[in-house]
This record gives sequence, C-alpha cells and structure tokens, in this order.
Amino acid sequence: MDKVSDAFNKLSISSKISLSDFKATITPSQKKAPQLHHLGYYYKKSYSNQSSGKISWRCVKNNSKASVYSNTDKVGDNCDFHILHEEHLDEPNMSKIYLLERRRFIKVRAANSDDKARKIVSQACFVNFLLIF
Ligand SMILES: [Zn+2]
Repeated sequence: MDKVSDAFNKLSISSKISLSDFKATITPSQKKAPQLHHLGYYYKKSYSNQSSGKISWRCVKNNSKASVYSNTDKVGDNCDFHILHEEHLDEPNMSKIYLLERRRFIKVRAANSDDKARKIVSQACFVNFLLIF
C-alpha cells in the first residue's frame, strides 16, 4: 500500500510545474509575433505578468491544453522552459523550427552585413545543421 501511495505522490509531484532539461527558443511567427518553440511544439503568448516577469504561453494548436511559462519573449533568446500543463493533442514538428530560424537568420544577416545573398543562404544551411545537433 505504501508503494502505491509513493508512486501516486511522485505522479502528482511530476504533474506540478516542472523545469524542462531542454531550453526553449523564441522565434518569430509568420505574423511576426514572438513564438516559443520547444522540442517541436509551438506556443503563442497568452499573458505576461509585469511584476514577476513571467510570460505565459499556450500551444498554438486549437484545443491543445498545453501551457508553459518563460522569463522572456525576446526573439532570438534561448530560455528556461517551465511546464504547467503538458497535454498536447498535436504531434511535434521539428522541421518547422528550422524553416522559421533559417528565415530569421537570413533576414538578420541581410540587414546587418554586406554579404551577397548567395553567401547568406549558404550560411543559413550551416545554421540549420547546428540546430539539428
Ligand atoms: Zn499542443
């Protein structure tokens, strides 16, 4: 009986807020709003708490109950990822983050360097490679 209640206690502890071992990335959405990416899932901002600095996010898929929070919504930041609810109805999509980050890289690069477009695009391929591993 004790083992059962132990297991139950562990289960209820793990369903509380937990910090992921993996960092999240803030990337711009197609509508240029900050979007949180974590292991193939995408979150839109739901609200930010001015006093605590916590930013709450919800999964972009309708009906997905997953919600998380971070301490930043600045595009380009890598940040801690705190999980509130982990129920997803959708499948993770890793290829989307490569495309979003690649596009962001090309834009930033084009705006801040004199490199030729062809060189920037080849650098972007290298960035994709870095993101995979
Ligand atoms: Zn989801």
